Amino acid sequence: MSVETAKQRPRSMTGAPRVSYPLSVGDPDGYGSFAELDDDGHTVGCHECGRRSRNLGLHVRVHAMTAAEYRQAHGLSTGQALIPADLARELAEHSRNSSTSLAARGEP
Ligand SMILES: [Zn+2]
Repeated sequence: MSVETAKQRPRSMTGAPRVSYPLSVGDPDGYGSFAELDDDGHTVGCHECGRRSRNLGLHVRVHAMTAAEYRQAHGLSTGQALIPADLARELAEHSRNSSTSLAARGEP
């Protein structure tokens, strides 16, 4: 005895659930755009208050959020640095320099 069930029910186009993702990339989100870091090259804009900062990870504390909570709330990936491009480049150069010198010291 077998009972056949309709496994593939056609999905209603109009009733598409938007619960998990209420916003799409680029949608207006507070003072910024959802899932996008507002980076003008020197400062990054806060989605919460619109203030521009050199280090948003530190700034978001005024909103009682951690950087991780901020990223999650605004659709940013966990690896997204909350700093402007020039500062990111500066930090990358510093770490490259220090790792280069460490490697140089370690080599015979
Ligand atoms: Zn803010």
